[in-house]
Amino acid sequence: MGTNYRLCKGIYIEPEAIAYKDKQAIRDNFMKALEEILKNGNYVGLATHDKYLIDDSYKLIKELNISKDKFEFQMLLGVREDLRNKINNDGFKIIIYVPFGKDWYAYSFRRLQENPELTGHIVKEFFTFRK
Ligand SMILES: Cc1cc2nc3c(=O)[nH]c(=O)nc-3n(C[C@H](O)[C@H](O)[C@H](O)COP(=O)(O)OP(=O)(O)OC[C@H]3O[C@@H](n4cnc5c(N)ncnc54)[C@H](O)[C@@H]3O)c2cc1C
Repeated sequence: MGTNYRLCKGIYIEPEAIAYKDKQAIRDNFMKALEEILKNGNYVGLATHDKYLIDDSYKLIKELNISKDKFEFQMLLGVREDLRNKINNDGFKIIIYVPFGKDWYAYSFRRLQENPELTGHIVKEFFTFRK
């Protein structure tokens, strides 16, 4: 039956001793892990907004002939909606993650404190005009 995985690039800033720091090394390792998970018959949630990884995942899924009931894409609400719509239009399953409940603000703030680089992305998303 296999295991149910969520595969993502960690958001927290970690020391070099325990984490890949180079952008391409992180991507390469994501793809290596994805291949291993899929080849072993597991279910995987691809939790990324990185177009490079989404394109490469498409290629790998095709190459390994993986059926659609073995994976889904996952994104955070409000992030890369263009990509989210593309995945949906391409006929793949896409799940949107929404923080909710009474502690949503503390949770979101803690995540931002861990990686202040993301604040810029979020401010940009907030002020982007959409029809
Ligand atoms: C459902 C889900 C659950 C996750 N759970 C965890 C977890 O438990 N622990 C953990 O460490 N990581 C978790 N992550 C990963 C984390 O939230 C970031 O998505 C990840 O670290 C950034 O890598 P990326 O591949 O998404 O995008 P990147 O390649 O880093 O960025 C691509 C683009 O996406 C946008 N973007 C990416 N992330 C965010 C964000 N958070 N807010 C606003 N814009 C963003 C930016 O515009 C950026 O230019 C989760 C992701 C998802 C989708």
